[in-house]
Amino acid sequence: MTMTVQQPVRTRTTPLTEYTRYKVFTQRQMDQIKALEVLPEEQRFEMQVVAQILPFRVNEYVINELIDWDNVPADPVFQLTFPQRDMVAPEDFEQMANLLKQGAERKEIMQLAGQIHGRLNPHPAGQQEMNVPIYEDEPLGGMQHKYRETVLFFPSQGQVCHSYCTFCFRWAQFVGNTELRFASHEAEKLHGYLKAHPEVTDILFTGGDPMVMRTRHWQNYLEPFLAPELTHVQTIRIGTKSLTFWPQRYVYDDDADELLQLLEKLVKSGKHVALMAHFNHWQEMQTPIVREAIRRIRATGTVIRTQAPLINHINNDPQIWADMWREQIQLGLIPYYMFVERDTGAKRYFEVPLARTYEVYQQAIQQVSGLARTARGPSMSAGPGKIEIQGITELQGEKVFVLRFIQGRNPDWVQKPFFAKYDPEATWFDQLVPAFGEEKFFFTDEYAAMSGQDELIF
Ligand code: SF4
Repeated sequence: MTMTVQQPVRTRTTPLTEYTRYKVFTQRQMDQIKALEVLPEEQRFEMQVVAQILPFRVNEYVINELIDWDNVPADPVFQLTFPQRDMVAPEDFEQMANLLKQGAERKEIMQLAGQIHGRLNPHPAGQQEMNVPIYEDEPLGGMQHKYRETVLFFPSQGQVCHSYCTFCFRWAQFVGNTELRFASHEAEKLHGYLKAHPEVTDILFTGGDPMVMRTRHWQNYLEPFLAPELTHVQTIRIGTKSLTFWPQRYVYDDDADELLQLLEKLVKSGKHVALMAHFNHWQEMQTPIVREAIRRIRATGTVIRTQAPLINHINNDPQIWADMWREQIQLGLIPYYMFVERDTGAKRYFEVPLARTYEVYQQAIQQVSGLARTARGPSMSAGPGKIEIQGITELQGEKVFVLRFIQGRNPDWVQKPFFAKYDPEATWFDQLVPAFGEEKFFFTDEYAAMSGQDELIF
């Protein structure tokens, strides 16, 4: 095969990064992180307490090249990766802190952590109950088919990330409870299911972060898409935060070139290959290595679209979003989604009222040129579908949220505007009620019938 993947521009005098060997720290190695020594001991202890409950994993590149330690604790990447006391409820914090102070056994710590996990809504929006596809009369674990055109696949080799985000809505996968984990190693079942479903046009590989997978696994999963029986799957999407946490994946990893060659082969065969890159802040896109990774990926013909939730303490500011979207346009990326922080995990620390989220979106989008206005939002991946807040207005004398489905369990719901009573405190769709005194939203009964449950999961 002709090698057209571009070589990285690196010389001895202009290293792209000091960190080409992946070295990671988890909760057990937290006290080996030199940079943390600038923090008071009490704060380090608090971080240890929270790290017993929520997942913690960070690598040297993030620590040394993405975090501005003169700006800690406010630094957005520090907030993105390091645990903070208020991420857990005060009573849970106290209980766990006491166990640590008493030198409790690991088993006891894990037991308490497990109890706390159960209170943190580990599987929001009915994912486990409603979205598992059936193939040859068997449920396919590690896959979700929620919307007609799109199948999500969770490869078992991609169920971790190069670092963990403190606000992660998939945190449950990382805390050792295998019951809460989506993962499939069955490439054949994926391809078999898709061959039997010609209505599916998009496959989304997600995780964890599937970009932690070696290229040989990617080859197993992706090369079959070149076969004529899978022509209907036109778009291959890969959800990843690797451009932030480990851009070396595309430049220095020993199978980086093969990965890029594979992407290029898919593009040349006519597939649309889209890297759905997760960036929360412009600070994540400043290093030479991330810019080089972007350049190399784009050279394969892969499109990079960007998405992120709006998160308190990290990017709750229109200026940050406007600057981030501008930077992305400059780098040839396409802003795609602003999400609402999901109702799970450490949401008490990160959540932002829907009204404020919409305000940030509006003020940010007003500042950028048309090319960056491709960013949709703010959107909630709720049980019935992906719901976008389109505006806040007054109708028939009532202040309302204007909403629409971007995706719906029933495609007929998509694009239909609907209205919820304005609530300045609400942070998720399940806290909203229909406007104009109506009892239900237009889809409530149909969704209830689909979910087969008395209590609806929003
Ligand atoms: S990269 Fe995505 S899946 Fe991984 S920790 Fe962050 S939000 Fe979670």
